[in-house]
Amino acid sequence: MKTEIVKIDNIQQAAKQGFFDKARDILQQGGLVVFPTETVYGLGADATDAAAAAKIYAAKGRPSDNPLIVHIATPADAVLYAETSPLYWRLAERFMPGPLTVIMPVKSSIPQTVTAGLSTVALRCPSHPVARALLQAAGRPIAAPSANLSGSPSPTCAAHVIDDMSGRVDMIIDGGDCDVGVESTIVKIEADDTLTLLRPGGITLEMLEPIVGTVRIAEAVLGALPEGAIAVSPGMKYRHYAPKAPVYLLDGSSAQIVEYVKAQHGKIAVLCYEELLEEFKTFLPADRCFSFGKQTDVQHQAQQLFYLLREMDKRDFDAIYAPLPPTSGLGMALYNRMIRAAAHHIIDLKKGN
Ligand code: AMP
Ligand code: MG
Repeated sequence: MKTEIVKIDNIQQAAKQGFFDKARDILQQGGLVVFPTETVYGLGADATDAAAAAKIYAAKGRPSDNPLIVHIATPADAVLYAETSPLYWRLAERFMPGPLTVIMPVKSSIPQTVTAGLSTVALRCPSHPVARALLQAAGRPIAAPSANLSGSPSPTCAAHVIDDMSGRVDMIIDGGDCDVGVESTIVKIEADDTLTLLRPGGITLEMLEPIVGTVRIAEAVLGALPEGAIAVSPGMKYRHYAPKAPVYLLDGSSAQIVEYVKAQHGKIAVLCYEELLEEFKTFLPADRCFSFGKQTDVQHQAQQLFYLLREMDKRDFDAIYAPLPPTSGLGMALYNRMIRAAAHHIIDLKKGN
């Protein structure tokens, strides 16, 4: 398949050049369009077209038991595809458009291919101007998981999308780098109108709780779900977002982490806080030391995580070492992705202290 790559810097200009009409036609004809969102790039198809949605699974190599998120142009469109509740509207008013996905009982307008046969559907209204313009032009909901091959880190820039999806989709819209860098927060509205957090993301627990009260945290968010166990959210499996090299997360002080890495052999690399970069460079080649931001700047770390994991993966390292992030605020999203990238390999350096 020939993939058309379109770069959009200016929405009005792109509209004038007919790019959105072209994307709409592709979607209407059951094709695949990759587009930027504020979280990561999405691999989109018409969410009301079962055959089109099936192409998403094929393009990604995604198991068909892992449902897709349905993107909508405005929060009000939710009534067309889901049984909404008062809690949905409270969330919508405060957090939409934005990096929040809400799971509710599905209506028959969404085919089972999209929901992987579940009785619920995941809905999200993205805030990225290109995603919004595309949804508006398409005039239909767009089912879109992250635009990576299944299991790999999600793409946060067009180059990484092209690495994975060239020849597998009809169009790739390059809208620059994604802001948030980790996938949307996923919450499920339970039958009693309470909320369960299934996947942490840009909308944090600390942001949700003042609006909706106590939020239950699904076990798989911070814990190690045994391999093969069934997750509430099928995407929250054991190893995910993972580069080819094994990743080890180090739980200890900066000094302990440096000391530990120093004792390792082979072609190893570190993903570290900016403050430690120079220290690592005293014993590792500079091109094996990657900073993902200042220790307190979790937002930058989240934005850089998948980008750097993918860049590191091009270098065939024997192992990648990284600090275990804290779990508060946006740190929870980072922690959740990093324990999966590391297949839950956490090395406790604090033991014996
Ligand atoms: P991705 O779009 O690649 O970020 O993956 C979508 C995520 O949403 C996966 O982790 C899915 O398991 C999850 N998801 C989508 N629909 C549902 C649903 N109805 N119930 C639970 N999780 C869902
Ligand atoms: Mg994904």
